[in-house]
Amino acid sequence: MEVDAMKEMFSRSEKLLDIKHVNYIGDDLTTYYGLAIRRHPESACKMKDAIWATFYHKCSTGKDPQHSKCPEGADSWCKWRVAEARKRIGFI
Ligand SMILES: [Zn+2]
Repeated sequence: MEVDAMKEMFSRSEKLLDIKHVNYIGDDLTTYYGLAIRRHPESACKMKDAIWATFYHKCSTGKDPQHSKCPEGADSWCKWRVAEARKRIGFI
């Protein structure tokens, strides 16, 4: 489902049915996609980027790391990016 359509559906249900979506029940990706959406309520583009970052992060393996779309830095939710940042500044 497109992020724009999902956001519109959620906002419409709030207006029409007074239902607010606050929790997502489902597999890991559903949970992480929910987090990506809630972390970027101001921008559908940022939601989309965060969802793709999660997708590639979850597809990543030790032999084929795919963390280029994950947020950089020691504060990242991506442990690979945290390790990268710490290594860069000399903690590892
Ligand atoms: Zn990652």
